[in-house]
This record gives sequence, C-alpha cells and structure tokens, in this order.
Amino acid sequence: MKAPDLSLLRIIGIAAHVDAGKTTLTERVLYYTGASHKIGEVHDGAAHMDYLAEERAHGITITSAVTKAPWQGHTIQLVDTPGHVDFTIEVERAMRVLDGCVVVLDGVRGVEPQTETVWRQRQKFQLPALFFVNKMDRPGADYGRALDSLRKRLQAEPAPVTLPLADGSGVVHLIERQLLRFGGEQGEQVSVEPCPDALWEQFAEQREALHLAAAEADEALADRVLAGEEPSPEELWRGLRAATLAGRVQPCFGGSALRNLGVQPLLDAVLRLLPSPLDRPPSPALSLAGEPLTVAMEATAPLAALAFKVQLWDGRRHVFARIYRGSLAPGDTVAIPRPNAEPLREHAARVFDVDAGKRSRLDRAYAGQIILLAGLRYASTGDSLCDPEAPLILERIDAREPVLSLAIEPASADSEKKLLEVLDKLEQEDPTLQVLEDDETGQRLLRGMGELHLQMVLERMQREFQLEVRAGRPRVALRETVAAAATGEDHFQRLLELDRGQSEVRARARVGVRPLERRAGIRVLAEPRLLPEGAELTPLQAEAVQQGARDLLGSGPQEGAPLQDLEIRVEEVELFGAASSPEALRAAVSRALRKALQAAGGVLLRPIMRTEVVVPEENLGTVLGDLQARQALILDTEDQGATHVIHCDAALDRLLGYTTELRSLTHGRGQFSMEFDRFDQA
Ligand code: GDP
Ligand code: MG
Repeated sequence: MKAPDLSLLRIIGIAAHVDAGKTTLTERVLYYTGASHKIGEVHDGAAHMDYLAEERAHGITITSAVTKAPWQGHTIQLVDTPGHVDFTIEVERAMRVLDGCVVVLDGVRGVEPQTETVWRQRQKFQLPALFFVNKMDRPGADYGRALDSLRKRLQAEPAPVTLPLADGSGVVHLIERQLLRFGGEQGEQVSVEPCPDALWEQFAEQREALHLAAAEADEALADRVLAGEEPSPEELWRGLRAATLAGRVQPCFGGSALRNLGVQPLLDAVLRLLPSPLDRPPSPALSLAGEPLTVAMEATAPLAALAFKVQLWDGRRHVFARIYRGSLAPGDTVAIPRPNAEPLREHAARVFDVDAGKRSRLDRAYAGQIILLAGLRYASTGDSLCDPEAPLILERIDAREPVLSLAIEPASADSEKKLLEVLDKLEQEDPTLQVLEDDETGQRLLRGMGELHLQMVLERMQREFQLEVRAGRPRVALRETVAAAATGEDHFQRLLELDRGQSEVRARARVGVRPLERRAGIRVLAEPRLLPEGAELTPLQAEAVQQGARDLLGSGPQEGAPLQDLEIRVEEVELFGAASSPEALRAAVSRALRKALQAAGGVLLRPIMRTEVVVPEENLGTVLGDLQARQALILDTEDQGATHVIHCDAALDRLLGYTTELRSLTHGRGQFSMEFDRFDQA
C-alpha cells in the first residue's frame, strides 16, 4: 500500500450551536456523496453519524465520529463535532486534528453563544473556515442579518458566495454567475442555468463584497477590482482560496439542509477553498528538552502522531489519532513522551481506517491520515505517539474544568465491582469526566461539565453496560480565594529521637498572602529574604520552600475548597545551620502559610455561567423576573422580532433544573444554553 495523494483529501469538521442543523447537513453530505444510501432524519432518530444510542434518544450528537464522503475525485473526511455546550472539549479535541471547518448558523438566529465558542477554538488552531447559513426556509430568516452578526459578534469577514432565493426555489452562485436548483427526491439532482440578468443585477452589492474579499490576499486582483473590472470565475476562486487559507476571509453559503437547498455548492467549495493536509502550516511541537519545534507533514520521516480520542469499540480500548509525520504499520512500537517523565513504549497492534461505525485494517498509514489504533493500553487523549528514535511532544489539547458533581452508588451491592470497571472505562474515554471519592463522606463522586453531560453518562451505564446506579443531587464545584492581605509566621522546632541520639530540626518562615483579580490564577513567589545575613539555600532547601508554599493550594480557609486568584509570598526564612533541613523548611513555610490564610479569611467562589436565554416576546417579563430571582446579572437583551435574547451571568447552582423551569414559564418555547465562564463571588 502506498501513501495516499494528500492533495485529494480534505479533513474537515462541521461545527455549530446546538440545533443549527449540523446533523441534518451532515446527513445530506453523506447522501449526496453516496457515503450513505438514505437520509436519516434527526427527528426520526435515525441519523447515520449519531450512532450511539443515547445520541439518538436525545437527537443530538455527542461523540465525534469520523466519516468519509467521496466527492468529485476527492475524499472529504468529516470529523463530527458535538454541538452541546457540555461537550465543548470534544469539539476542541476534534478541531485540533482538522484542516478546515464549516460553521453552520441558523438563518433566523445568526451567531449564537456556541457559535462564538467554536469560533474561538477555530482561531486557536488557525483553521480556515466556510460558513453555511442554514434554515433559510424558516420565516424570519435573513441572510444579510446573519452575515452582519458574523461581522459584529465574531469579527469575521464573511464573503457571500451563494445566495438563497427568497422563494426557496434555488441559490444564485456569485462566482459562477449561475442559478442552481435542486430536484429529484431529496435534492440530489442539481440543475444549472446561467443567472438571469435581472436577478444578477439585484446582487450587485454582494458581488462587490465577494470581489473585495477575493482580492484580500491578491494584490493584482485588488488593482483590477478597484479599477472596476469584472474578474473571471477562475481568478475569484484562486483569490478567495488564498484569502481563506490565510484566515482573512470566510466564504459564505446559504440554504436549507432540511429542504435540500444549497448543499452541493458547499461541498464543491470545500474542495476548492479549504486546504488539503499539504496546505497546512507545520504543527507546533516541543522537544523533550522543552524547545519549540515544528513538524512538517512528510511521509518519509520518523513517526509523529497525536491521539485525540479514546473510545471503546466492542468493549476494547481504541485510540483515534492523526499522523502528522511519517508512517505507522501494525505492530510498530511507539514511544509516548510525556512532560517530565520517561517516554512510555507500547505496540500499536492494529491500524484501522475509520468510516462512521465501520473500520477496515490498514497495512500502513501515512502522514495526513486519521486512523484508529487498537492494542494501546496507555496512550490517551492529547498524547503524542512517536518513533522511539525521534520522540517529541505535539501541542497538547487543554482539558476543561468539570464543575458539577453527582454522588453515585450501585443500585445493588453486588454490582460494586462492575461499577468500578465501568467507571474506569468511561473515564478513559472522556477526559472531562472525573471519578473521585469525597474525603469526608466516603461517597463516590462523578464530576462532569454539566447536567446533560452527567445524565448522558448515567444513561450509558444503563444502556451499554446494563448497570443500574442511584444518583444524588448534583453539586457544584467550589473555589476559594482570600478576603484580604495578611501574613503568618511560624517558628518550627522539633527534637527527633534517632538511633544515634537526639537531633534538632528547626526553621522559621514568614509568608504573606493577598487576593488577586479574577482569572489571575495562583502566583507563588518563593525568593525570601534569608537570615542570618549572607545565608544561602541549597537546591534541596529551595525546592522545599517552594513545596511548602504550595502545600495548601488544595484547601482554602473557608470551606476547604481549592484556592485560586491569590498571591503567596514567602517573605522571610531564617536558617539554623544543619538543623534547617529541607523537611524543617517545608514545615515552617507551610505552617506560616496556614496562619496567613486563616488571618486573611476565605471568600467562596462559585462557577459562573455565561448564559443565553431565548424567549418569545410575551414571556420576556416573566423570564427576566425569574432570572433576577435567581440573582442572575442581566448583561443585555436583544430584540429579534418575535423572540428576545437575554444574555446574563448566573451561578451554576442557581441554574440547576432550569431547563424544566424555563419550559414551564414559556410553554415549551424558551431555549437556553450556558457555558462555564469563571469562578467568582455570586
Ligand atoms: P444540530 O443540533 O446542529 O445537529 O441540529 P440538527 O440537525 O439536529 O437540527 C435541529 C433541528 O432543526 C431538527 O429538528 C431539524 O429537523 C431542524 N432543521 C435542520 N435544518 C433545518 C433547515 O434547513 N430548515 C428547518 N426549517 N429546520 C431545520
Ligand atoms: Mg446534531
């Protein structure tokens, strides 16, 4: 087997706010490309990509699946990204291995909170993007307003390429000067005719916007456009591609996935405007010594791949990875370097090509490809898999902080062992899920990103593993900071009984603490003034001072919650010759810190969620009143005609069960979404 022609491959993701129509669009893509033989509608619970049972039950997409769609001699490899905010980390993990993305918007609602989230993630990985303005069949849909919201809320540069006609009969292609209609049973037959002049003239303004966008990264074209010349379709494609790859412009397509309108021109544009693996800049990485490097996508070089997802398949552990350099054959040994540790080594026993729920064995996989590996016991999300002779660390994916927890126990005592096994499997698959034990109550806690996330986990236990569990009420994670600046001092002195007689250990330390602004994190300054004058710390002693200053980070003075947003300063340390062992220094510093924290007093910080609530006009007053009763901070409300959008900040504990409450306040018409923003006083 030889290396595939990467210029014919597009690895892309489709990202959106929940309900914008990502799954519906994906189903069309698979159908038109022949990757699936029928369209599975979300509301029938039959969508091809949502292959986990719970996803079907909820009609949403949780797990990234990889699916191939052949189009015009190319392969579009789709990495499906979940839309619900509880699963943002999944979106990020998927984004990390994409070459480009399509961001779907609801044509009525324009940019929504998670559109902003995926946009930020896209920026992080500098992914070239296209927009698909979906649901243009809905009353109140407005293409121009959607584009405006992209400019205003995302600071994006949308360039209209296709425009849906108001009567839903077709789309006008502004590069090709064509009118496209979609016939047949499911829109699979595309008829193309030249755009009638009268219609063409109506779009002068959008055409001008497109021409300027295409000229964004092409000076010769810019001169011609400014001189009022009409560029050819070829010139426009070329210019637009350059501007898109440079991230300066995002071509926009309009239509309706559900009504089979405007999807094929989007697919054509994926081939013409989004990068192949060869067009992507080299990936940032670190050497084992921590020096920055870049990894270029070459097939004949030592292996470097990134694991981006662990999933159980037939009950066995499988790892999704993207190869960034070199190649990998079944049975190869890979090294897994981790920061500050010896690289692990293991065998990639089997290598698969993946297509939704199917996998097929590969003899060898090459740079650029996304693959599934079986037989790896340790590799987990974010790990680099390398040639043992050339280890390096590819840029890691950040993990998010799980903010909600649930106490669980098996419904019957004899399934305790099974519960442990199942939890272990689930935890391996999902880095945003943590299993821990409450020190005080001995309860087992499941900690995740939100109510829906935890609910899905419980349902999976039941459905996939036939395990019944009882769950307590959800509880939110807490943090603490200090209320004021304070100092503490400790003179630590002990006599130790040793075989060879008594020995004294002794040290004195003074430590100051002060609160910092929110999101500042923790700052530890451990370069104290030393007494007696002229004394110096050995490396071991200096290390012990550092450790002492960090000893209490896990438990604040108020409720014992982890500390954040504070400065800890070891101000002074007094040494007493040989008696000031590293242990003595650490104890003195940590005890002085405890006193400082107690003197300062704690302030409880709770998870604050950035929240957006969409309500019908007539319920606006009631919903605002209810939010105020929940002590939400209303940031603004936006009038969208029949509906209003409320933006607010609210503490997570006051939003538990809000889905149900909102439904009853609005007769089922209100919607809301929230995203963790910060730990703060509420
Ligand atoms: P996702 O959450 O982004 O995956 O969105 P889905 O594809 O699950 O769609 C959410 C809902 O919107 C479903 O009820 C779809 O049938 C509906 N929907 C999707 N696309 C369109 C569209 O183009 N027009 C209209 N009117 N409804 C759509
Ligand atoms: Mg979906």
